[in-house]
Amino acid sequence: MFKSTISSKGQVTIPKEIRDYLNLMEGDTVVFQYNTEGKVHIDKQIIFIDCPVCFGSGIIENDNKGCYMCDEKKVIPNNIFAFKLINEIKWRKYRISYTLSHHTMDSNEEVYELSIPRFSLRSDLYGLDSLAAGNDYIQMKLIQEYAPRRVQDPEQYAIPSDIVLAEITSLLTETSSKREVTTWFRA
Ligand SMILES: [Zn+2]
Repeated sequence: MFKSTISSKGQVTIPKEIRDYLNLMEGDTVVFQYNTEGKVHIDKQIIFIDCPVCFGSGIIENDNKGCYMCDEKKVIPNNIFAFKLINEIKWRKYRISYTLSHHTMDSNEEVYELSIPRFSLRSDLYGLDSLAAGNDYIQMKLIQEYAPRRVQDPEQYAIPSDIVLAEITSLLTETSSKREVTTWFRA
């Protein structure tokens, strides 16, 4: 249990442990709900975006199949942890499997690498392009969440060497994803 004192304006600080647990960032909205048992719940307001795999259509046109990423709902929750998203997607229903592994590299700089899990989708029902789109979307979330931060400024990524950056972008399939991720580390 965590405590916080209410100010004269009715404001409270959400304890850090709860912010971390809900992955709350500056600018996020929280929702409060009460139930019939007199309990109040606080949760993060989930923001939905057009599905990046089917571009908000619910159908993957190249494969003429329903979209595995959004379960044909056309939108996906955006501001949730990658692992939570992975758990919510109905992979099995679409006969898709995935592996999550820690990447190893034979170098002195492997500490940076090891902190970013490698995500990989497999399916013989969907084409490589449609798998790459989902793969890269989730892999980019994992990079965002797991890339080491600067000690003095935790909002900023620690700067990887060129070799490590090449390893990071090798986690991605599409050129556009590699290019975007490069800009995160090389402003
Ligand atoms: Zn979709």
